[in-house]
Amino acid sequence: MSLRIVVCVKYVPDATGDRHFSDDLTTDREAVDGLLSELDEYAVEQALQISEAADDAEITVLTVGPEDARDALRKGLSMGADKAVHVEDDELHGTDVMGTSLVLAKAVEHVGYDLVVCGMASTDGTMGVLPAILAERLGVPQVTQLSAVAVADGKVTGRRDGDAASEQLEAALPAVVSVTDQSGEARYPSFKGIMAAKKKPVETLDLDDLGIDAEDVGLAGAWTKVEDATKRPARTAGTIVKDEGEGGKQLAEFLAGQKFI
Ligand SMILES: Cc1cc2nc3c(=O)[nH]c(=O)nc-3n(C[C@H](O)[C@H](O)[C@H](O)COP(=O)(O)OP(=O)(O)OC[C@H]3O[C@@H](n4cnc5c(N)ncnc54)[C@H](O)[C@@H]3O)c2cc1C
Repeated sequence: MSLRIVVCVKYVPDATGDRHFSDDLTTDREAVDGLLSELDEYAVEQALQISEAADDAEITVLTVGPEDARDALRKGLSMGADKAVHVEDDELHGTDVMGTSLVLAKAVEHVGYDLVVCGMASTDGTMGVLPAILAERLGVPQVTQLSAVAVADGKVTGRRDGDAASEQLEAALPAVVSVTDQSGEARYPSFKGIMAAKKKPVETLDLDDLGIDAEDVGLAGAWTKVEDATKRPARTAGTIVKDEGEGGKQLAEFLAGQKFI
């Protein structure tokens, strides 16, 4: 039977652009272009490698986000995913990680899955907790922060590299994994892949389709609240150390004062 892989990909504001908050203290998405979160490209790549090693596999890229979030799905499809699911609903505006994980869990169940692959963290929220919450909501094992991942004999195995040691982990499928930026360079979409992506199916779902109450998501259902946001202060002039015999000592003292050493 086909191995069903769902890759969660997030559409994020381009970090190189100037980002602002709207009046309700949510991200002003009109003011900045978006793109597929770069760390999620590693998740798509690992799913493609697992699929290539399997006899028969199908990859679905899944996103929860506004209309433009389709761009993230197109990128995943042009890299080689088979189909896409886009959850879009006006009521999702301001949804935090608890709401996002709820919607993703319902959508993953809707698609059907053996393995869910996530990135290690989104490049905007950067909490890195969504995969764990998603696994809990689905009631399946989680194997997170993997630098190497493989599937065989109904199990997912992987290596998690820490500062002091590497761990070898495994879990029975179905499971949720997240992969790091050490898992292997993500491929560029080929021209053929970009053309093929235009014909691949993209299913759009809303909250009704997933049986989710609007009050459980959006700003109303969020467990977190942005109370205030202020612009980052302009950079001040740095400390200049002139070496007149004591330069090294002064530099070391400065670094120690900043708790760098
Ligand atoms: C203070 C705060 C303010 C927020 N404001 C807004 C807002 O104004 N507008 C808004 O839309 N959201 C908002 N959010 C929600 C937020 O952007 C995330 O969608 C959500 O909280 C997930 O957290 P994260 O992005 O840090 O996920 P992480 O845990 O860092 O993400 C890990 C992985 O989970 C997957 N993933 C995460 N999000 C998605 C997604 N949406 N679709 C598919 N896969 C995903 C990806 O694989 C990703 O690599 C806010 C969250 C917080 C905490």
